[in-house]
Amino acid sequence: MTMERLYLFDTTLRDGQQTPGVDFSLDDKLVVIELLDRLGIDYIEGGYPGGNPTDTALFVEARPMKAAFTAFGMTKRSGRSVSNDAGLQQLLAAKSKAICFVAKSWDYHVRVALGCSNEENLDSIRASVEAAKAAGKEVLVDCEHFFDGFKANPAYALSCATEAYNAGARWVVLCDTNGGTLPAEVSKIVRTVTKSVPGSHLGIHAHNDTEQAVANSLAAVDAGVRHIQGTLNGIGERCGNANLVSIIGTLALKKSYADRFETGVTAERLGELTHVARAFDELLNRSPNAQAAYVGKSAFATKAGIHASAIAKEPETYEHVKPESIGNRRRMLVSDQAGKSNLIAELNRVGLSVAKDDSRLDELLREVKEREAQGYAYDGADASFELLARRTLGTVPHYFDVLSFRVIVEERDKEMVSEAVVKVKVDGEIFLNAGEGNGPVNALDVALRKDLGKFQQFIDDLELVDYKVRILNGGTGATTRVLIESRDGKGNRWFTVGVSPNIVEASFQALSDSITYKLVCEGVSP
Ligand SMILES: [Zn+2]
Repeated sequence: MTMERLYLFDTTLRDGQQTPGVDFSLDDKLVVIELLDRLGIDYIEGGYPGGNPTDTALFVEARPMKAAFTAFGMTKRSGRSVSNDAGLQQLLAAKSKAICFVAKSWDYHVRVALGCSNEENLDSIRASVEAAKAAGKEVLVDCEHFFDGFKANPAYALSCATEAYNAGARWVVLCDTNGGTLPAEVSKIVRTVTKSVPGSHLGIHAHNDTEQAVANSLAAVDAGVRHIQGTLNGIGERCGNANLVSIIGTLALKKSYADRFETGVTAERLGELTHVARAFDELLNRSPNAQAAYVGKSAFATKAGIHASAIAKEPETYEHVKPESIGNRRRMLVSDQAGKSNLIAELNRVGLSVAKDDSRLDELLREVKEREAQGYAYDGADASFELLARRTLGTVPHYFDVLSFRVIVEERDKEMVSEAVVKVKVDGEIFLNAGEGNGPVNALDVALRKDLGKFQQFIDDLELVDYKVRILNGGTGATTRVLIESRDGKGNRWFTVGVSPNIVEASFQALSDSITYKLVCEGVSP
């Protein structure tokens, strides 16, 4: 049986950004693009060029990626020509391979929100699609409020979809914008639409207001659509968007889909799904949902009790899929076998290969578990994980020793001033560096990187991009986790982590990991 291709479209950076409290910087967006592109997503919607300065900057230059980089924007305004619509012109000029237009398809919204006639709206859809095609773009049209519009006026909603298709849109995407449609309705409506627009050109965009965005997306696939839009971990306004992570897991691991469809996510990348989901949460500086389907920490955790020995003997009888297939692990049965294969996969992901029977793996596994118990989270800090692994494997040179450091924070003339002094030993030579900063961590960073002797030339282009602090447990005994993002002149970026009851010490660990990682990457020998 030949496999049919399903196309995955990620809108984390556009629709996902509607989540309260989520606001991606340009750097954040580049990190998320890298995660999504590596995973094998077909379309990555970056944002709304012209909508805000970050998105405009994102689309100013071409961003190399395998996925089709997609800009989002509105169809032409009625009563205006394509060439006179500044918003549309900006969209056409954006450095993207594809354009996703949002178009009204509910006559009520056409009247109230656009204030134009139904005909004028159809005209805007056609003219916008044609202009984007002429500009060499692949075109998608998100038919906003499609399902509600279809229930109110099926003929008009359908005419919006067919207008987009006939004008040359690659994908006509049916949106459940209010998120209140149920799977059976989605199924029925999509089947009707496929009589006018072939399923090979139809997509689904579901919101999660009845917690069925994933179910609705799958119902739409069963009814014929071949394109699914969603976000990482289901972020989005109100109750969120369809969770692409759950959709990817289901499409790949459930027989009724896996036997019929393939996506751009290979089995190998599927094994990194848990990492992607957790790394994204770390980027948002929030704790991953332990009960998330497939990738949650508890997704394969069973309380032992009467099942313990049975689970130990036949874990698959208690699991709907194999946890390793999505890079997750079984909990409760301290199964070193499962832990080890997971660890090997993680090592491969950061480019280290170790034989299965290498005894140092046991030591590393013990070390990782111990550190995770202390509060380290390596899903968001690949560079620290790689260093920890390389140290255990004995391949990290000893570059410098920090003999002591001191940080002073004081108020001077009504201004807060921070000063740091760091004493480091490099190749037998002692350097006493002082630095000033707008806060203790900044001062420490300045002092530490001021003079590292013969290594200084290799870290001159090192730059701190982001700094995140998470308090892991409340009260005076709280533990602090610091996550630092660094970048160098070649555009490489890496994340390091530090954990301590003291925020300065946690920061210091992450800072010195960042420097060491940079030296390792440069291939510097001590
Ligand atoms: Zn939406």
